[in-house]
Amino acid sequence: MRGLPSGSPRCRAGCPWRSNCPLLSQKVTEMKPVVVVGAGVVGVASAYLLCRAGYAVTLVDRNHGPAEGTSRANGAQLSYAYGDALGSPSLLRHLPEILMGRDPAYRIRLQTDPEFLIWGLRFLAESLPGRSLANTRHLLDLASATRRLLEDVLAEFDLSFDYQVSGKMILYPTAKAFESGANAHRLKRSMGIRQELLDRAQATEIEPALALYPDPIDRVMYSPDDAAGRPDRFCVALVNGLVQHYGLQTVFGQEVRSIRSQKGQVAGLSFAAREPLDCDLVVITTGSSTDLLSLADRPFGAIWPVQGYSMTAAARPAAMQVSITDLKRKIVFARLGDEVRIAGLADIGAKRFRFSRDRFDLFQSASIEAFGGTFEHQGSHLGAWSGARPCTPSSRPIIRPGKVKGLYLNLGHGTLGWTLCLGSAQHLLELVAGEEGGRAGLSNA
Ligand SMILES: Cc1cc2nc3c(=O)[nH]c(=O)nc-3n(C[C@H](O)[C@H](O)[C@H](O)COP(=O)(O)OP(=O)(O)OC[C@H]3O[C@@H](n4cnc5c(N)ncnc54)[C@H](O)[C@@H]3O)c2cc1C
Repeated sequence: MRGLPSGSPRCRAGCPWRSNCPLLSQKVTEMKPVVVVGAGVVGVASAYLLCRAGYAVTLVDRNHGPAEGTSRANGAQLSYAYGDALGSPSLLRHLPEILMGRDPAYRIRLQTDPEFLIWGLRFLAESLPGRSLANTRHLLDLASATRRLLEDVLAEFDLSFDYQVSGKMILYPTAKAFESGANAHRLKRSMGIRQELLDRAQATEIEPALALYPDPIDRVMYSPDDAAGRPDRFCVALVNGLVQHYGLQTVFGQEVRSIRSQKGQVAGLSFAAREPLDCDLVVITTGSSTDLLSLADRPFGAIWPVQGYSMTAAARPAAMQVSITDLKRKIVFARLGDEVRIAGLADIGAKRFRFSRDRFDLFQSASIEAFGGTFEHQGSHLGAWSGARPCTPSSRPIIRPGKVKGLYLNLGHGTLGWTLCLGSAQHLLELVAGEEGGRAGLSNA
């Protein structure tokens, strides 16, 4: 495996970190190789920060390019001000209705798999008021780090992914629905997160598409700093930039079969259909696929896939600019250039998910009912997609060293991986640099 060609600039003019660049304060005596397995938003963000810190990164994925898993066509929202843990007291209260099949946005198929049962019990415990709020705070911190780091990325690379800081509105159908999230709103205010509570008329002045919404709206929570953008195009463009500017190596279309280790130290990776790769530093960012990890490392009962659906359709003239969450139907709408991305549903059941036509049809008709006037839904032009959110019981991603030396995990980003990706990557980098710094030949000047 090769690092940057010798003589390549490691800290270039225009480096967004300028005088804070760690490469200026550290002596890089050797480009330490690291392999990142998984090229979704989390893997690509991890590769970016590792490259920037002076590591010689190889990015591996079984797909033929970046962001072909769950990161491909998600809701596209960078919800810096939302960041709420999935498990919450209001979800607990709503659980009987969900289990009785009275809320079509959710479908829970109970499994006898012990891993599912452990995950479910832990999820219930994490939904209690104190835990849920602590989890939300953690996610908001990661989201705000992503927001800052995305500015660095955009200053360094010219990326085209229909990125827009268009703000986000959450539509509360009743006062009761709003009250159930009141603690989280107070927490956000105490953290200085910008959110405004609007009535329907005020919100419609900012986003005229709300005039098309057929149901009552009690109030609207508006977060002007939230953004939207296509995660797949972001990943593809950033990988290209990293290849050109940092010498990132890529191995696509190759499934990793196992992580090899010797005497408690990572030694490399074995593939299904290519020669092994030697490496003593490996980062796993494989989303909800944890099969590759040994039993000691596999976070048993810590990640369960929660399936969702999306469609991407041509925008009509009345299409929204601001991202909208219809809380009644639990569907999100985001404007992406001349298209609208719509996402929703949370199906919890078998570990291996499949596209269900029934569920997609239900999702599609609910989307049309809510904002059908904003996107083209006649004909066969709807980009239908389904993916599995890698959900942990607490909604916090798992960012930690593995059981063998040189192995690191960064997975389990649930409903918010796009929003959390760079913040999580920063945590990962701190962990790797902290533990590996000496061995990597990095020392403070
Ligand atoms: C319907 C829906 C809507 C969503 N909306 C939003 C949103 O609006 N905002 C937001 O922030 N988040 C959203 N999310 C969540 C977000 O999409 C995920 O959290 C995020 O994509 C997870 O990224 P990842 O990189 O961890 O996983 P992935 O994107 O799944 O990447 C993992 C990669 O690992 C590779 N891989 C796995 N095993 C192996 C192996 N053995 N060898 C080689 N490669 C391997 C896979 O091929 C894959 O490319 C949504 C999710 C869904 C399903």
